Amino acid sequence: MLNIQHVTKYFGRFTAVDNLTLEVPKGAMLGFLGGNGAGKTTTFRMILGLLERDAGEITYNGQPITYQMTDSIGYLPEERGLNPKLKVSEQLHYLASLKGMRKNDIKRELDYWLERFEVTENKEKKIEALSKGNQQKIQLIGAIIHQPELLILDEPFSGLDPVNVELLKSAVKEINEGGATIVFSSHRMEHVEEMCDRVCILDRGATVVEGDIQQVKHDFGRKEIIIRGD
Ligand code: ATP
Repeated sequence: MLNIQHVTKYFGRFTAVDNLTLEVPKGAMLGFLGGNGAGKTTTFRMILGLLERDAGEITYNGQPITYQMTDSIGYLPEERGLNPKLKVSEQLHYLASLKGMRKNDIKRELDYWLERFEVTENKEKKIEALSKGNQQKIQLIGAIIHQPELLILDEPFSGLDPVNVELLKSAVKEINEGGATIVFSSHRMEHVEEMCDRVCILDRGATVVEGDIQQVKHDFGRKEIIIRGD
């Protein structure tokens, strides 16, 4: 399980994440909801050790997350980090090899996911020749190709047309059904409602509400939950 206890992050005098406590049970899918600037990306970066926290503890299966554990973690960053000059196949081979995958396994998984995401014809194209939506699919493949047990996705469905949103959603659901623990951020309650068993709504770095999705919906009744930006 992923355990975040009393985590705080300051940028100068600004509090970006404010005493956040969040537990994600093994195999759960948690929707991390919040408007622009709520602190979602900052939290993800602290979980992954890309950003130091100012207070609190983060553990995964009872251990602090270290670089060595990243082979079992997948991350789709908000700022998509593909190399525009690489071919799709080169880029994905590179990302998968960083996770310790062997060539044969990479080839099998690569072909499966390119087919699944309907981008096989782009395999030998350079990243820069792809549409933004297709680049996003390639980046997502890079995050899941090594079958991580913990998957952290920062706005995986943003900027995609509805058909591609459905395509990616069904893949993310399938990965979760296969046993992976998943946390994804979104601005949209409907994505979370449809996909997740748990939800955490963040506002200005602090939790507004957190828990079982059905319980949260029940507690809020039919009231609309406002997701505010900064
Ligand atoms: P969005 O949905 O817009 O991506 P978010 O919930 O992911 O928002 P964060 O990116 O975590 O929000 O940002 C939280 C707050 O921290 C914002 O006000 C942002 O401007 C601020 N912030 C983030 N990174 C830094 C930084 N490196 N230096 C200073 N302020 C930062």
